[in-house]
Amino acid sequence: MTKLNIKNCARCKKIFVPTSGEKICPECRAADLEMEEHVKAYVRDHPGITVNELIEGSGAPAKLVWRMIRQGQFENSGLKGASYPCANCGKLITRDNYCSECLGKLKQNAQKFAKAMDSKRRAAEKKSQTFSDSMYDALDSSRSH
Ligand SMILES: [Zn+2]
Ligand SMILES: [Zn+2]
Repeated sequence: MTKLNIKNCARCKKIFVPTSGEKICPECRAADLEMEEHVKAYVRDHPGITVNELIEGSGAPAKLVWRMIRQGQFENSGLKGASYPCANCGKLITRDNYCSECLGKLKQNAQKFAKAMDSKRRAAEKKSQTFSDSMYDALDSSRSH
């Protein structure tokens, strides 16, 4: 039986059916998109403003503005002060959560981790194989007697 996948919108608490793991309902998402367009237009209309001026002037939530910055939506827009510390080393960056160096390291670690998991899984498979083989041996020998 498949369980109906429903969720409470993280913002308006309304129940909705997420299609790909979203946390907010389609209406809130649409409102967000509208706000994003408004913010983008504000930056276009006010060349050279800073992030703080943008947040104050456009009335957009700081969280939304910073999310847009992280997504790289203001690259080459001339928005000033759109940098924040890398979540790992604290170096100032302008998009994503990590600087390119840390991203490279994280990728390497992820690969190492995947490899480690893989060899662990293989070892476990081998073990279960040996186990079932010896079980069959035992069965065979009990049958032949
Ligand atoms: Zn909602
Ligand atoms: Zn870093």
